[in-house]
Amino acid sequence: MNISPVEELFTLFNETALILQEELTCSYLEALAETGENLFQGAILQEELSELTVKRLKKQYSEISLDNYSNEDIRKAFQLVILKGMKENVQPNHQMTPDSVGMLVGYLVEKFVQKPSFRLLDPAVGTGNLLTTVINHSRKQISSIGVEIDDILIKLAYVNANLQGQPIQFFNQDSLESLFIEPVDAVIADLPVGYYPNDIRAADYQLKTEKGHSYSHHLFIEQGVRHTNPGGYLFFLVPNGLFESEQAPQLHEYLKDHTYIQGLMQLPTNIFKNKTSAKSILILQKKGENIQPPKQALLVKLPSLSNAFEMDKILTKMENWYQENKG
Ligand code: SAM
Repeated sequence: MNISPVEELFTLFNETALILQEELTCSYLEALAETGENLFQGAILQEELSELTVKRLKKQYSEISLDNYSNEDIRKAFQLVILKGMKENVQPNHQMTPDSVGMLVGYLVEKFVQKPSFRLLDPAVGTGNLLTTVINHSRKQISSIGVEIDDILIKLAYVNANLQGQPIQFFNQDSLESLFIEPVDAVIADLPVGYYPNDIRAADYQLKTEKGHSYSHHLFIEQGVRHTNPGGYLFFLVPNGLFESEQAPQLHEYLKDHTYIQGLMQLPTNIFKNKTSAKSILILQKKGENIQPPKQALLVKLPSLSNAFEMDKILTKMENWYQENKG
């Protein structure tokens, strides 16, 4: 039977994570980060393991050389083991960005950001799946930064990046606190949706609300815009109802003052668990000298991504829009 490279890697990650999970009595995702780190360092880093376990792990690790696998094979296999771990421990706002969405964002970044080398920020980097998908699908030189508040997710992101040989700079912090980074040329983020509990911090943002908690997804958009160079682009995965909430007029005003809305692409609902969690991609350009607004924004509703014929029509529409407005 032929086993694909992704399956081979999945089996290695999964089996060694299970061994470590049992012996370290930790969660599967923590064990996965540990086994990834072992593979990257070429050593067994956990000192508390029995001799027998060390022997079993060494045997498994010796059967595979990462050099024989592409970055995309490694990313996909890592994505599958993370999905397995996430099923055990479901946290709705920590969902990994699906592949199909990552590839679409990758296509948009490649299309809009014309510089041969640029700086890219993902302030909600999670497991790094979206960020590494975008980097793997680009032919440009990208220097990237990922920020994440959850310490297990950022560990997974860091291991994911190391295994793929991606020199990403990571920060484990609340992205709505001050970010000590140089401005970037592009921002991508699958935004955490909901209320931001820290009202004192929120008070620093124009998009704070007067009453109660502010929307964290609105504050993330403002934070992204603040850290982008004039003329830079931002690609956010946002809830479909972004412009329908009671705080939407304020957001609209802010976006009008600081950015040009390039487009809003509604993703097919079948990618998401239910209609209420369905998302769109909001594309913005930060205002700056000599930056012209598009004649009109690109508004599309994407068909099922597996419908090649309809997808082709949309890609042609996007191409025409791009030529007329940006070309
Ligand atoms: N794109 C990510 C991936 O491929 O794994 C998934 C992003 S997930 C939809 C949103 C992420 O935002 C979660 O990982 C969550 O922990 C993170 N997050 C939520 N609030 C945050 C904050 N204030 N600062 C930094 N990260 C935050």
